[in-house]
Amino acid sequence: MQDALLERLRTAVGSANVLTGVELSPYVVDGRTPEAAVFPGSLEEVAMVIGLAAESDVPVVPWGGGTAASVGTPAARAALVLGLRRLARLVEHEPGDLTATVEAGMTIAALQAVLRGRGQWLSLDPADAERATLGGVLSADASGPRRHLYGTARDLLIGVTVVTADAAVVKGGGKVVKNVAGYDLPKLFIGSYGTLGVIVEATLKLRPVPEDERLVALRFARLKDAAAAVRALLASDLIPNAVELLDATAATALVAGVAGDAPGLGKTLAGAPPATPPPTGALLVVGFDGLPEQVEWQCAELARLAAPHGGRDAAPLASEAWPRLAAAARAAFPVATAMMAFDVLPTQVAELMEQGAGVARARGLQTAWAAHAGVGAVSAALVAAAEPREPGPVAAVLGEWREMARAGGGHAALEWAPLAVKSQVQVWDDLGAAGRIMQRIKAQLDPKGILNPGRFVAGI
Ligand SMILES: Cc1cc2nc3c(=O)[nH]c(=O)nc-3n(C[C@H](O)[C@H](O)[C@H](O)COP(=O)(O)OP(=O)(O)OC[C@H]3O[C@@H](n4cnc5c(N)ncnc54)[C@H](O)[C@@H]3O)c2cc1C
Repeated sequence: MQDALLERLRTAVGSANVLTGVELSPYVVDGRTPEAAVFPGSLEEVAMVIGLAAESDVPVVPWGGGTAASVGTPAARAALVLGLRRLARLVEHEPGDLTATVEAGMTIAALQAVLRGRGQWLSLDPADAERATLGGVLSADASGPRRHLYGTARDLLIGVTVVTADAAVVKGGGKVVKNVAGYDLPKLFIGSYGTLGVIVEATLKLRPVPEDERLVALRFARLKDAAAAVRALLASDLIPNAVELLDATAATALVAGVAGDAPGLGKTLAGAPPATPPPTGALLVVGFDGLPEQVEWQCAELARLAAPHGGRDAAPLASEAWPRLAAAARAAFPVATAMMAFDVLPTQVAELMEQGAGVARARGLQTAWAAHAGVGAVSAALVAAAEPREPGPVAAVLGEWREMARAGGGHAALEWAPLAVKSQVQVWDDLGAAGRIMQRIKAQLDPKGILNPGRFVAGI
């Protein structure tokens, strides 16, 4: 990067807020080191940084907690990381209106802690909440188990302040739930992976913290039995806030992990010591919230409803299990070789998990699977058991998995894989005509292609 640009960046945000050289190691993605990392402290400074980068034609990588930074196609050239960590305030909280305006660099955990202290919460529970920032979560459209009842960011975002590639400050939506006329601009930025603008602030709908909340776990001998129980649950009067289906590998890690961290949980999965779940089978974990008597009744009703499908050992799980559920497949292994996310019809979840595991097994690879079963969002971790880790078999399995999802009308996205694998596998699905429309939107908002160029769908 030209020294002149570095100097201007230092002048804009202060020398202490510009990192270079060895300080950049936390920001290396897919083996590529950025040229510098800059941490603006205000909306105006974000606009200045983007303006300077655009002038010099240097790509900008917006950076929240970095937990999803390697999602996507590897970047073609080194860039400037624009970190949001200094923009991490709760700007405004209107308890009476159930809304909050929050700077994009605030972590989800920090936000929830403040809100819960005031009896409210943001009904979004993605993985890695201690590190994941609001801006990153909106940009990655990340969510967790409670999306079953409460939906995703699209259901919660009512206003957004974004700096676009030409350094313009754009405000979309507002602070009231029913907004002004015009296209729903805030939603355009959800799931756009930082390719259309840098989110600096967002206004969100909140909910009161429920009086009671519980997780119930049930064991099944086979995934398809658990799937039948899920169908019965969804057709019933019960109102779960989470319906999580885990294969035996993910279940083992979940139960062992929670037991390890939370003494006493060992007792809670009745009938089986937590360290020895069945080598096959499935765990169905269902959440309920509301008034204590309603929650109690629903937990009992769930066990009754699951019994004819082979559900057994119904027992409460400690609340520490919630954050682990959000990354249950990934957490099953110390290091996963690859992670793939699928969106399929809820009725196809168990079959995808079973067939997907079979495809990997046939090539000598291990897997762990977890799903938000009620909404059809499935996550798979793939591990190459034997060294050396040849990219070929991993790439072949990922390719077959994508075909399986597509054959059922669903989608697959490669969330994480080593570069050698990424170069052999498509990261995103082909979008056809929709991809061409997205390319035109990108061209309008970022004509020089400086925001996360090339990482997202359709080469955006
Ligand atoms: C292997 C793996 C698998 C995961 N699987 C899932 C999953 O299946 N489902 C799920 O919901 N979550 C998943 N997550 C977690 C989820 O991706 C993160 O919780 C969250 O989205 C990232 O927040 P962050 O602040 O770390 O964002 P970052 O990683 O910093 O950024 C994410 C993306 O958003 C952009 N960005 C960041 N901040 C801004 C901003 N202010 N404005 C504009 N663009 C911005 C970045 O450039 C990047 O493209 C997974 C994470 C990992 C590592």
